[in-house]
Amino acid sequence: MKVKVVTRILEANDRIAEQNRKRFQDAGVVVLNLMGAPGAGKTTLLERTIHALKPRFKIGVIEGDIVGTDDAERIGALDVPVVQINTGGACHLDANMISEVLSELPLRELDLLIIENVGNLVCPAEFNVGEDLKLMVLSVAEGHDKPLKYPLMFRESKALVLNKIDLLPYLNTDMHKMRNDSLALNPNLKIFEVSCATGAGIDFWAEWLTGLR
Ligand code: MG
Ligand code: ZN
Repeated sequence: MKVKVVTRILEANDRIAEQNRKRFQDAGVVVLNLMGAPGAGKTTLLERTIHALKPRFKIGVIEGDIVGTDDAERIGALDVPVVQINTGGACHLDANMISEVLSELPLRELDLLIIENVGNLVCPAEFNVGEDLKLMVLSVAEGHDKPLKYPLMFRESKALVLNKIDLLPYLNTDMHKMRNDSLALNPNLKIFEVSCATGAGIDFWAEWLTGLR
């Protein structure tokens, strides 16, 4: 019975996600759903990405957090349109939450809309919001056991950004295992190694994103 209810919720979500997808296509905007655990560096990667792509693309952002507006303020300081969603407890964004804020963004003027999901390695991967691609940020400090413990997010993502590589000398993270386990779950996964603190690897990442347009 419980499974049935969950299935119905996901079906209802997928219907609204399809409506969102149609709106994005009509507006000609590419939409990325950025996922990852709290502290992985999602907002910092977003700041780096906006700096790198702003000369070429008009970018908009939707920030998802349980409470607070810190992330939207950080992104707003870069002079890009941003909307903050506070889920009020929900640990992921769903298609309806996205649908409700779309009128607050100049969709037709945007080339790229980046949605920063709520920090969580589990259910954000279960909910389509109408995005073109799901992307994942994983800090190397989170440990090499994460792909096998949280497989769905690795399977659903088109690209995996391994962040904080500047910390590797202080960690026991096995990068070989992290990469191999991720690729075993998703052989087509594109993997980037970056440091949002130093800027290392951001150019390759930004170049790949440019190719999506
Ligand atoms: Mg954030
Ligand atoms: Zn959730």
